[in-house]
Amino acid sequence: ETPKQKFDYQSDVARLRKIVINSLYSHKEVFLRELISNANDALEKLRLTSLTDKQVLEGAEQLNVTIKAFKHDDGSSRIVITDTGIGMTQEELTKNLGTLAKSGTSEFLTRAEGADTTGTGNLIGAFGLGFYSSFLVADRVFVSSLAARSEKNTDPKQYVFSSSADDSAFEIYEDPRGNTLGRGTEITLVLKDDALEYLDTHTLTELIHKHSSFASSFPVYLFTQRTEQVPDEDEKAEVSSTSSSAPAEETTPVAEAKVEDPEKDEDEAIVEEIKEEEKEEPKPPKMKDPKTVTEEEYIGFYQSTFKDYEKPLAWHHFSGDSGSGVSYKAILYIPSRLDESFWQTGPTSLAKDVRLMVKRVFITNDLGDDALPKWASWVKVVVDAEDLPLNVSRETLQSNKFLKQLKSIITRHLVQTLTRIQNDDAEKFGLVKTVYNNVFKLGAVEDTKNREKLSALVRFPTNQRNLTSLNEYLENKKQGQNQIFYLADMGKTPEDLAKSVFVEKLDARGYEVLLLGEPLDEIFVQNIRNWKKITFQDVAKAGLKFGDEELDPEEEKEQQEALTEQYKPLLEWLKKEASGIVRDVVISNRLVSSSCAIVADVHGYTANVEKLMSSANS
Ligand code: ADP
Ligand code: MG
Repeated sequence: ETPKQKFDYQSDVARLRKIVINSLYSHKEVFLRELISNANDALEKLRLTSLTDKQVLEGAEQLNVTIKAFKHDDGSSRIVITDTGIGMTQEELTKNLGTLAKSGTSEFLTRAEGADTTGTGNLIGAFGLGFYSSFLVADRVFVSSLAARSEKNTDPKQYVFSSSADDSAFEIYEDPRGNTLGRGTEITLVLKDDALEYLDTHTLTELIHKHSSFASSFPVYLFTQRTEQVPDEDEKAEVSSTSSSAPAEETTPVAEAKVEDPEKDEDEAIVEEIKEEEKEEPKPPKMKDPKTVTEEEYIGFYQSTFKDYEKPLAWHHFSGDSGSGVSYKAILYIPSRLDESFWQTGPTSLAKDVRLMVKRVFITNDLGDDALPKWASWVKVVVDAEDLPLNVSRETLQSNKFLKQLKSIITRHLVQTLTRIQNDDAEKFGLVKTVYNNVFKLGAVEDTKNREKLSALVRFPTNQRNLTSLNEYLENKKQGQNQIFYLADMGKTPEDLAKSVFVEKLDARGYEVLLLGEPLDEIFVQNIRNWKKITFQDVAKAGLKFGDEELDPEEEKEQQEALTEQYKPLLEWLKKEASGIVRDVVISNRLVSSSCAIVADVHGYTANVEKLMSSANS
């Protein structure tokens, strides 16, 4: 056994550890994401190396990650994260965990030290300061590692890196237990008193789901101790091999680690108490190839990621390159219903359900100012940026650029997806429009860039059919018709609207009239103003033109004047009786069976808008 070697941390490491511990205090949970991420990287490296050098696979067959949480005999609470990845040699332990090799790090640290802590939290949280986040939850950390056997390393030995949270030095020594790992790395966190919540099965399960359920390439197994529960005879421990105790620290009192005799088979005893609580199978949808993902997998992934027990209406799996060198893969889901708060919340966008991952590791679901437009804020998306570079200072900028691009990427794909469903799958679009018809109207008003495409998705009831799109309306228009007719009266049903005197004449002549009773309808029409250059015409307003008038305008005018002359006494009498209520009384050629109608002035408000205004004023 080699003696313990003590090393001082490189000065940047000391600074970094301080920043991480101070600024991420309220984001302690990131430690798990970082450690799972490192385990994944190590497994990925092993897999890659094994393509050219098979012997690296020796020692451990399975490629996986195991997480154990338990109370140690010495009274400490521990989390042990083990992977069967590439592992680290003695030199690598010293170099990788004791120094910072990243370029630009010093510069970043200076900035981070000057920044306010919340800002730093985001900065660091987004760019994984990796291994040192262990000290957010641990007083002491042991990293025991057995590097994979290779041509260069024919007789690997298991070494330990050990450090306490408030120590400026770390130790490296040969593992007194020998080569217990088979291959890979075991990280033992001796939890701080204020981090005991991470012993909880539920908390851990949630965290693992949150951080690594997305297309995790390797299985993650979680084992926790059943401390509060009555022992269940039927549930036997299924853990068999991996050690769950930290490598012994014989001399350092801080560790309070028990002196463990590798000969004394104590591991078994501890393992006995650990029950299998949760077995995390790998959770595709593999981002690699959409063709291999089944419908069940898409649905299952949606349900576990977004905690929605209903099935999504539709999804879209796509990949691309942001243009700034970040390539990504993403799955976009259309939920089967809108959150109740959607129409209640203000104009600010929520978009809490865009989950950004880097290399399958959860980074954030807070896109901040780069959130989606309000109309699209309900969409649920997982984005996995495959090669967002991890060099800290430079990429902080790049990431912001990417986040900004993400907004339009998602919006574009959402519009495309909706349009494709409309064109290709009438049945599905039926479901979509039931939930999102009003959302499309909002989008057309709010998002001028996508106005055209969103307007095309909107459906309206008419006097002739249940629902029509604007395109279908135009296809159905009569010879010579050059207006889109509508009647808007907020709160009225299409049936009520169809009975209106304003619709009568058009109906009799075979014209289709949009029947607009939804609050957003009139706002939509007033913002769109025309569709394919055909203007909207409110049939309750003057200015109504038919394309098939039998009389030419001159003749019509003459006829109108003759009638006005003929009915002059009646018109005068009506004007006198209704003075102060109506501006004028005229002969109309609009009506078929009703005897009269009250019409808004061509420049005046419609009855509907007046209704809106008076309710706003009261
Ligand atoms: P990063 O992952 O961004 O490189 P970390 O602080 O998370 O930074 O890890 C530092 C280095 O330590 C890694 O680059 C890797 O070489 C090594 N390392 C960390 N965890 C493991 C592990 N589980 N297996 C093998 N190597 C590891
Ligand atoms: Mg890392």
